[in-house]
Amino acid sequence: MTNLRIGVPSKGRLADQTGELLAQAGLQYRRQNRSLFARVGGFPVDITFLRTDDIPVLCAEGAIDMGITGSDLVEEAGVDVAQRLALGVGRCRLAICVPEDSTIQQPSDLSGARIATSFPSITERFLKAHSADVHLVPLSGSVEIMVSLGVADAIVDLVETGSTLAANRLRVLGDIGKYETVVIQNHEQQNAEVADRIVRRLEGVVIARSYSVLEYNIHREKLAAAEQITPGFHSPTVNALEDPDWAAVKVMVKSKEVILAMEQLEALGATAILETQINNCRL
Ligand code: AMP
Repeated sequence: MTNLRIGVPSKGRLADQTGELLAQAGLQYRRQNRSLFARVGGFPVDITFLRTDDIPVLCAEGAIDMGITGSDLVEEAGVDVAQRLALGVGRCRLAICVPEDSTIQQPSDLSGARIATSFPSITERFLKAHSADVHLVPLSGSVEIMVSLGVADAIVDLVETGSTLAANRLRVLGDIGKYETVVIQNHEQQNAEVADRIVRRLEGVVIARSYSVLEYNIHREKLAAAEQITPGFHSPTVNALEDPDWAAVKVMVKSKEVILAMEQLEALGATAILETQINNCRL
């Protein structure tokens, strides 16, 4: 049986994030001298380094069995691939942006306007649905400067923090969609068993990254209230302490909710409240 082929981004922040995620999932590889290929040690997988925007079509065509890329690029390519997993990184939104001082209020006001974007397909579909007949200016980059260059009246671009927009004196008129880095798979499902193992491994890392383990001691009279603050993934582990009036609780909590949960538990009288980060998990 041939190795499963995964296409990963060849450069940039997404290439680094993908390499870290795969390594944490036990799939390690090293890229030699800008080579296009790499082998994964001890696992029947070959890595192909590709441009992120080529990964959706190459996956749909079967040149690679799986790919890691942005869901924005999958939608723009309009290809039929299975989306197996969202990786919780590269989160951004695609937004229609107009000059800060523009009087335009809504997408339908854009009829007749020139719109610069590297997402012409998504943009056209969205504006058609809003009955705006626009002139698209398709570009592969630096879209944010096109209004000041006089090439466009508005842009459709990815926004993460909004600082690029502010620097170019643009404001968001409306969101078209939310996107993040995803794992995609060709429908033929070559090496399906290996593909499923990779997805499960990555899922373990993605969940581990978004949860912490919280441990604390609590008076049994307050246990029910504490469990309401930290209900856990399935159900908290409750152990007896030497003191029969007290219990020790161990529970998974969403990382972004940990600080608030610790404050609430402390206010309830919990003691020895400890947060531990999870490296990997299977739930
Ligand atoms: P920001 O200034 O943080 O809003 O970032 C906006 C710029 O970064 C845009 O010009 C985007 O092209 C790029 N960008 C932000 N997020 C992503 C992403 N997830 N994938 C690719 N490009 C992105």
